Amino acid sequence: MTELLLKNCPLCGSKDVSFSHDGIEHYVQCDNCALTGAYGSDRDQCLEYWNDRPSPWIGTDKKLPPYGEPVLIVGNGAPQHVTYIRDGGDDCDDWFEPYHFEHDDNCKIPASDITHWQPIAGLEESV
Ligand SMILES: [Zn+2]
Repeated sequence: MTELLLKNCPLCGSKDVSFSHDGIEHYVQCDNCALTGAYGSDRDQCLEYWNDRPSPWIGTDKKLPPYGEPVLIVGNGAPQHVTYIRDGGDDCDDWFEPYHFEHDDNCKIPASDITHWQPIAGLEESV
């Protein structure tokens, strides 16, 4: 039997991905964030679907979003379901804070806790 090598989760980057089966079809699931890949008739097929899935996330080790621009983030290993913006000051490290929401300083996430981010597609066009 050939070795089936699954790539890390494209959403959260976790290595905890495994094959699952719903009784009819196979699929790949991330055990960390519960993302599932496309369903396939066998393992080889869903492996292919999973590994070909492009990741929309940009690693903060590669590039940080511009200040003040709404983005989605992955913080503490899980995607955050709120839009955040990057902010910062001259005298402290950058942070991310929720956009559009009433918030206080407790909602801030240090930029060092953010592993990935992505721009919000279509935002500019939809104004
Ligand atoms: Zn995941």
